[in-house]
Amino acid sequence: MHLKLDSKLPDVGTTIFTVMSQLANDRGAVNLSQGFPSFDPPEALLDRIAFHLRNGANQYAPMPGVPALREAVVAKTAELHGRSVNVDTEITVCTGATEGLFSTIQAVVRAGDEVVVFDPAYDSYEPAIRLAGGITRHIPLAIHENGFDFRIDWQRLQDAINEKTRLIICNFPHNPTGAILSSDDLDRLASAVAGSNAFILSDEVYEHIVFDGEQHQSLLRHDELWERTFVVSSFGKTFHATGWKVGYCLAPSELTAEFRRVHQFTVFTTITPIQYALAEFLRSDPSFYEQLSAFYQQKRDHFCDLLDGSRFRFKPARSTFFQLLDYSEICDDLDEELAKRWTCDIGVASIPLSVFCETPFTGQRLRFCFAKDDDTLAKAVEKLQQL
Ligand code: PMP
Ligand code: GLN
Repeated sequence: MHLKLDSKLPDVGTTIFTVMSQLANDRGAVNLSQGFPSFDPPEALLDRIAFHLRNGANQYAPMPGVPALREAVVAKTAELHGRSVNVDTEITVCTGATEGLFSTIQAVVRAGDEVVVFDPAYDSYEPAIRLAGGITRHIPLAIHENGFDFRIDWQRLQDAINEKTRLIICNFPHNPTGAILSSDDLDRLASAVAGSNAFILSDEVYEHIVFDGEQHQSLLRHDELWERTFVVSSFGKTFHATGWKVGYCLAPSELTAEFRRVHQFTVFTTITPIQYALAEFLRSDPSFYEQLSAFYQQKRDHFCDLLDGSRFRFKPARSTFFQLLDYSEICDDLDEELAKRWTCDIGVASIPLSVFCETPFTGQRLRFCFAKDDDTLAKAVEKLQQL
């Protein structure tokens, strides 16, 4: 008998990040596509990991995470956002933000439930929603100010929320646009969900990368929002270590209990020696994450200065390590085709925005990752300046 497996995700292909990085490698292009730093994590943190690897931290960590790491994140959360989180019942260390997002979605979304995402939406949300039997409602972010300022369209959000809405997924600081929320936005979001059955999943992986003196307005800061919110973050972005896949999920105890029901049978736990090392480093070197915004702001400014005089239009990103460039004065090709063509012909790889949208509305823009050493940025911009 020939057994045929009907795909649960028949139209899902390889992610754009893999496709573009692969193409960049094959063609020897400068890879500003997939978001990862070209530099290493801090030496002191690597030393702590080496120490724990050699000193017995090699077996299963507790399912919710190593207590010292949970305590360190809880202390950081209280200090930065004034939210007191219970170390035993309201925080779970997870296997990268991706697992935190996936486990939250599986814990919350049932067949037929609706989930709101804001386009452009990070690519892992929708497949997870579909696997849970949910239906994704895409709401485009509204574009303001010369086409570079992306914001939630409150009216569209209000119109989208109904009795079937089970979850709203937010991602601020926002990949790929760099949009951030203001404290007024938190109030607006709280009003929009008041009286509804909607929980919120807040993907805050770029929590420590916000520019120009602005502050990250975590949903943790808002009492009404906190009651219905799962906040997911990742150490990968904060410590230049995207390959480690260690993150965390903060949520009120009843929500965390449901999260853990899924988490314990998805991965059970995550890498032990790195958890111990992160716990110690978070406490001994808080200046590392405190200075991360300044570090990346300098990279952003350098990248934008190099681009001065080019035919790209842009406004410096407000957060994250991504810069959008509008190429409409160079050509009117579709972004996905162009990103591939320029990887091959010009030798610079980027990420098209349309792949993150149900209906392409973001225009002729590509996303470039500036988490790179100066030589790499200079090499890339030299090529982009020729366009
Ligand atoms: N959410 C967003 C918005 C991201 O950009 C990323 C990764 N780059 C993730 C989640 C996944 O984080 P992790 O690598 O920790 O799984
Ligand atoms: N989040 C990274 C980005 O936006 C990519 C992660 C991945 O490759 N899955 O570039």
